[in-house]
Amino acid sequence: MRITLVTGDITTQNVDAVVNAANSSLLGGGGVDGAIHRRGGPAILAECRELRASRYIHGLPTGMAVATTAGELPARWVIHTVGPVFSAGEDRSELLASCYRESLRVADELGAAGVAFPAVSAGVYGWPMDDAARIAVGTVSVTATRVSEVRFVLFTADAHAAFDRALSLLDRP
Ligand code: ADP
Repeated sequence: MRITLVTGDITTQNVDAVVNAANSSLLGGGGVDGAIHRRGGPAILAECRELRASRYIHGLPTGMAVATTAGELPARWVIHTVGPVFSAGEDRSELLASCYRESLRVADELGAAGVAFPAVSAGVYGWPMDDAARIAVGTVSVTATRVSEVRFVLFTADAHAAFDRALSLLDRP
């Protein structure tokens, strides 16, 4: 699997699936979630509402992932995953790693070859970027999947630099 980094907006990515840093309500929020629903149009929210009414009455649990249409986005699917809120007192990194593993598992089910991820939990949910990047890159690189390209789409130059450092740690631990 190839891991690539770009600075940009995840909603414009031409890949099979884009991952949404959703919240457990699946009913929209700020950050990446807001951008995906704004640009993808109402079809995504309609499918999220159906998922809430059928499979996830109590919300999508943290660390899990589920797919919907991508509506008007260039991608075919949105994979919604719920990152953990960062806690200084409790190590929640296994839940963050689970977001990446579960998203790739769903991508495999869909047959998605190219998947774009944002820096899950590193916005409103407060995860320090360097640590979020190490968990993201470290998890994706050891997960067995048929996905051939994982593209991390970073919103800022600082986030890109953090992911770059995390990638170089893979070669020199
Ligand atoms: P969370 O609630 O999981 O922290 P956020 O959406 O608040 O999710 O932020 C996750 C990361 O995504 C942050 O680094 C934020 O800067 C970045 N981000 C926000 N909007 C976009 C976008 N349109 N494309 C890519 N990354 C984005």
